[in-house]
Amino acid sequence: MVKVVVPELVGYFVQGTEIPEPEYNCTCGMGVAEEYKCCPYCGAELAWKRVAEPSKKLGVGGKKCIEKKVGWKGIT
Ligand SMILES: [Zn+2]
Repeated sequence: MVKVVVPELVGYFVQGTEIPEPEYNCTCGMGVAEEYKCCPYCGAELAWKRVAEPSKKLGVGGKKCIEKKVGWKGIT
């Protein structure tokens, strides 16, 4: 059986005026990208559909992120 894990949102990577990129960790503690189907470190299957909504989970931090996103959209 393949282990199935729900990736954990650990924060956002923001660089200048770029759109913030959400960063996820596998339950093994290693960073995983959204395009990964499996964790390359522990081999667990990643259940992206079950990841919690970022804005709800991060609270204030999530709101900050949204504000930045709006600002970015305003520039274009
Ligand atoms: Zn892992």
